[in-house]
Amino acid sequence: MSARINILELQSGLQTKGFGRDIFALPEVTSTNEWAKDLARLGADEGTTVIAEIQTEAHGRLNRKWFSPRGGLWLSIILKPKIKAAEASKLVFVAGLAVAKTLHELYGLEVQLKWPNDVLVSARKICGILAEASIIDGKLEFVIVGVGLNANFEADTLPDQVKLLATSIETELEEIVKLEDLFRKLLEILEELYDQSINEGYEAILKEWRSFAGFLGKHIEVVTDNHIWVGKAADIDEEGALLVELEDGALERILVGDVSIKSNSA
Ligand code: ADP
Repeated sequence: MSARINILELQSGLQTKGFGRDIFALPEVTSTNEWAKDLARLGADEGTTVIAEIQTEAHGRLNRKWFSPRGGLWLSIILKPKIKAAEASKLVFVAGLAVAKTLHELYGLEVQLKWPNDVLVSARKICGILAEASIIDGKLEFVIVGVGLNANFEADTLPDQVKLLATSIETELEEIVKLEDLFRKLLEILEELYDQSINEGYEAILKEWRSFAGFLGKHIEVVTDNHIWVGKAADIDEEGALLVELEDGALERILVGDVSIKSNSA
């Protein structure tokens, strides 16, 4: 069994300005995102980070269950960006890029990003990201960015319905890693990219995000709540929407959907 998380070690040597300055850690929570929302409502500062060894009721988009056994890096961070409420969804790209860069820099993993929030290695999901915004009277109060990274457990120990779609750092590297190192590196890169997005906008972030997005240019299927679109993944626009080039050449702009790559893709 992997070592327990040590809160002092999480912070020692952490080179951030604000992210992770306040850390709350528990052996088990229902969901780090729910916990972070409670803290944000109580006035916790931007950068406050919560981490748990196990989550019992974590969710992805559309309330889908996210399995979070011991050994994973399950954390959420409180952000209070001074941006328009409509811009909050773009933080998913900041977080996805931060995870991709962290896994590549620390372990040399070949990471792929799939629109909008999947981080894949060996075509399997290694990390889930969920950004949830609190908007009151049209004003963005805070955003919780949750990152669930399959780290120190074998992917085949996950429940049957997900294990063939999932991978983990342990499965990929055949060794366990120090969660504290992973935590610090992720927070450092996340803070840097977040600051960049606030100060300079999302253009450079989306450009770098695209460099990890192997599905672009491929033949894909996108399932939305009322339609299945088939075509070529043309691009991500400046709003973070997916642009699909349909068979008749028209461009369809999609804000919410599930992408799968067609096997006969070039
Ligand atoms: P997506 O956006 O790809 O639908 P979500 O962010 O909604 O994914 O995450 C939930 C889905 O992820 C679940 O429906 C399940 O298929 C899968 N899943 C759940 N737990 C894990 C895990 N620990 N590792 C990889 N995949 C998982």
